[in-house]
Amino acid sequence: MNHQKKFLVILFLLLVSVSLFSNVVVAENKYILNYQTKEDNIVVTTKHAELYIKKGYINEEETYTIAKKIEKGIRDLKIYLGEYNKYNFKKIGKIEYYIEDHHTIKSNAIPSNGRVHLSHVHLKKSPYIHETAHILLDKNGEEIPDVWLKEGLPTYLNAKFAQYEPKIIGDNNNLDKRTQQYYQNKEFEEVLEYFPKPFYKGVNEQRGYYWLSASFVKYIENNYGKDKLLELYNARRKKVATIDVLEDNSSKNEKEGTKRIDEFLGTSVEKLKEQWLTSL
Ligand SMILES: [Zn+2]
Repeated sequence: MNHQKKFLVILFLLLVSVSLFSNVVVAENKYILNYQTKEDNIVVTTKHAELYIKKGYINEEETYTIAKKIEKGIRDLKIYLGEYNKYNFKKIGKIEYYIEDHHTIKSNAIPSNGRVHLSHVHLKKSPYIHETAHILLDKNGEEIPDVWLKEGLPTYLNAKFAQYEPKIIGDNNNLDKRTQQYYQNKEFEEVLEYFPKPFYKGVNEQRGYYWLSASFVKYIENNYGKDKLLELYNARRKKVATIDVLEDNSSKNEKEGTKRIDEFLGTSVEKLKEQWLTSL
């Protein structure tokens, strides 16, 4: 082979490898894999999700936006949770998101079959990370930790990873500001007094309880680290069917072998709560 030929062969190989490499990069960054119009729904597929969106509910641009956000959110959560991600995509398949044009049911997640219902998506402030976190955190939904952990961690993660337009959401997804709002409000005195026991009446107090739980979770992460927090989430588990709201902190329903919080963090829940409140 003469020099010129050698040079051409090398150039060719170089170009092939560059194009292969850039294809891989493009595939990783490509969030939407398929967009199909079916009889009642628009079906959008990403690497980890399948969205069923009621036809005529949101426009094409909004459809792409929510699908990209969900796919990006799942990737962020998978990285954050690492080995604590309990959802097996290979075995169970993609997470299914049902986006309806009626809003009679609140957004929710059913971990046992990997389904999420999102309501009010047209308002562009659905808690899509919160519901997705439930799916990744609780494998079958038969066992859950205490309510403050079960709802506090997804609320914290939604504040951390969910993307909303500032002009729409304002400070509504800012954990520190929300915490102050409830902490300083006399109306939530009782919620705080019983905290972390889930003591709330009505939607407003429940919302306050969720945000306070998220703040408590963040405090634990900041002071003990993410691994300890996730270990704690997975250690204190109870059978769902036996949970009675006010008995949440009793040991009655706990599975055998469940560790107490002080065994994990070297401090009692009461002490921890005191330290957290002082830090606010
Ligand atoms: Zn929830």
